[in-house]
Amino acid sequence: MTPLLAKAAVIATMVGWYIIRFRYARRSRRTPVSLNAHGPRETVLLLTSLTGLGILPCVYAFTGFPAFADYPFRPALAWIGLVFAAGALALFRVTHKTLGRNWSISLELREDHRLVTDGIYRYLRHPMYTAFWMWAVAQALLLPNWVAGPAGVIGFGTLFFGRIGQEERMMTERFGQDYRAYTARTYRIIPWIY
Ligand code: SAH
Repeated sequence: MTPLLAKAAVIATMVGWYIIRFRYARRSRRTPVSLNAHGPRETVLLLTSLTGLGILPCVYAFTGFPAFADYPFRPALAWIGLVFAAGALALFRVTHKTLGRNWSISLELREDHRLVTDGIYRYLRHPMYTAFWMWAVAQALLLPNWVAGPAGVIGFGTLFFGRIGQEERMMTERFGQDYRAYTARTYRIIPWIY
């Protein structure tokens, strides 16, 4: 593994993510929204995540900026990063497939929204966010730069912790006892831990 290949892997993850999401995003746009729970705060959170997982690593991969924050490249770390990136994309695909029309980029509920508790959602309430965390960790392991590397963890972490409470409240308001029971028997993003 070389620094150039590691940068290519980060860009390939973004492209892969976009290809997977594109299909589902188009379908979800055609499904009417019944409750829109997002406001300016959500927009700021989404932009923060986009900056950390998208803009900063892209700028670094294509221009090398900010070079002052570079540290020595470690191939072994980058290989682990590659495994995380591949795992993130696989999980991303599975979660999109399982959520289907119930997915949205922001906090929304669709008409006829179904509470999904099957497939991987039987074990975790937020496996798509697990996929994003894995991607963010992959970026940190692949890019030997103190700004562009950890930017994904910080950017997505901000979105995650800023949104998770609100998302679960929204789901509880809509699904009541069903979601409470679902919460009681599942973990958020890491099985048996959190
Ligand atoms: N937090 C989930 C989904 C992320 S997409 C995950 O990480 O896998 C965000 C949207 O998914 C939310 O606006 C909500 O409408 C929907 N959603 C979240 N959990 C859901 C579930 N268990 N069943 C159906 N829809 C869900």
